[in-house]
Amino acid sequence: MCPADLLALPSNADLRRLINFSASDGRIWLAGHRMLLMHAEALGAMRREMIECMGREQTRRVFMRVGHASGKRDAALARQVRPDASVFDLFAVGPQLHMLEGAVKVSVEKFDIDIEKRHHHAIFRWDYSWEVDTHLRDFGPQTEPVCWMLVGYASGYVSSFMGFPILYRETQCGGCGHDHCRIEGRPAADWPDGEERLRDYDADSLIDKIADLRAEVETLRSTLAPRDELGELVGRSRAFSRAADLMRKAATTQVTVLLTGETGVGKERFARALHAMSPRADQPFVAINCAALPADLIESELFGAEKGAFTGADCVRAGRFERADGGTLFLDELGELPLPAQAKLLRALQTGEIERLGGTQPRHVDVRVIAATNVDLDAAVAGGAFRRDLLYRLNVFPIRIPPLRERQDDIAPLADHLLHRFAKRHQHRIAGITDRALDAMRRHDWPGNVREMENLIERAVIVVGQDDMLDVEDIFPALPGGEHVSIDADGSLERCVPLAIGALYDDVRCKGLSLDELEDALIREAVRRCDGNLSAAARELGMTRPQLSYRLGRARDRSRQ
Ligand SMILES: [Zn+2]
Repeated sequence: MCPADLLALPSNADLRRLINFSASDGRIWLAGHRMLLMHAEALGAMRREMIECMGREQTRRVFMRVGHASGKRDAALARQVRPDASVFDLFAVGPQLHMLEGAVKVSVEKFDIDIEKRHHHAIFRWDYSWEVDTHLRDFGPQTEPVCWMLVGYASGYVSSFMGFPILYRETQCGGCGHDHCRIEGRPAADWPDGEERLRDYDADSLIDKIADLRAEVETLRSTLAPRDELGELVGRSRAFSRAADLMRKAATTQVTVLLTGETGVGKERFARALHAMSPRADQPFVAINCAALPADLIESELFGAEKGAFTGADCVRAGRFERADGGTLFLDELGELPLPAQAKLLRALQTGEIERLGGTQPRHVDVRVIAATNVDLDAAVAGGAFRRDLLYRLNVFPIRIPPLRERQDDIAPLADHLLHRFAKRHQHRIAGITDRALDAMRRHDWPGNVREMENLIERAVIVVGQDDMLDVEDIFPALPGGEHVSIDADGSLERCVPLAIGALYDDVRCKGLSLDELEDALIREAVRRCDGNLSAAARELGMTRPQLSYRLGRARDRSRQ
């Protein structure tokens, strides 16, 4: 056993700094995770109701799993906060956070861990367990331990910390009349009933059974319903659903669809999804970007060319129309199509026939056209750059793809989807996205839409450490920090230094102050607050007395001008 002094927990100042009370907007953060300060008594009341309606066993499992999830989250923080610490100090993050979170007082009695050798044996003493308090009050002394959420936390934290299942259990509990609780942790395999106890954390509770049944019903329903392949499209916002509904309606028909929307909204993905939902799903989907090809090549690309049709055409080539025969042709950035090609496209749409460059024989093609544009085609028609008859022909079924800033409710599922896609692509394990980062994403304007989000998340996935969470700084490296209030060692709120730059900026701008006038005003305020004592005012402003005198002189000169 380790000597007692080795078992003293390190300072928790680094952990306290992770807690921020953002009182002005009603949120509390623990390193980017939203926390709640709630009455233990209220949680106790919920526990009592659950025991009464679903029984003690089910309730115990639910509480253990909630604790487990919380412990796992805190384990992800440990390496982030104390990357270079000893194993004991690194491990101590869990017990120390558990204390800061108000769950229980933890003292270490035995600590014998070797991560490499997968060895774990530890014993902790628990005092002031919130679960003992509430359980004793509601039900009186028990014969079985009652610290379900706490034990779940310990098992979740340590399993995640060690990288394989560790089970903690109470060898004595305050809820059974003991003076305090004691827990002991070993690898699940080392407990005689380990396998069975691990099942406490399995998703087999009543609630999960209901969820499973619901999922089964959904699956059965979806096999009966027609195919709905949104594929890579993710969204649940009203704006997105409206576009998706229109797509579903268009998919079953042969109608020509015109997708409009800003750059980066994902028009090609929408076109692919429309194709996948259509009866042509098993036929080719051919895409062409009209802006990416030089004007003199676009016609041969679209309609093909006979040998010798133009310089460099040394063999017969089928165009995209022919390659898309039976399927769908996607014309991106249609507004960039030169006028001669527009005339040929119009004819192809009207007659279903195309002619290769240098050819004389019309060929019949069965192609469904989906076009997309981010320019105002009406304006292009007015300016003479786009044929009015072609616009009428294409604009039969317009679908506007909404910009990301109109899709607030899609930010979280979309970010999550992209995180998984890029984590897989770069073979990088990422624990998730912090609530704070999601919040910043919801406030962002997204001028580059989904493509911008793809770029930011892919970059963040690459730079963030293995098993870390993506935080605000990873996604928006240039974003300045917000209001910051933390707690000191006594547990009181430290004097806050609000970096409310935005509010200050608005104030300065609306009063029409120049930077010089702002500086003058700050200096005068400091002097006033220090009752004219220039040395004290200089200290307040973090400058020397001569520096302050010089600036005061400048301020006086300016006010005389
Ligand atoms: Zn206990």
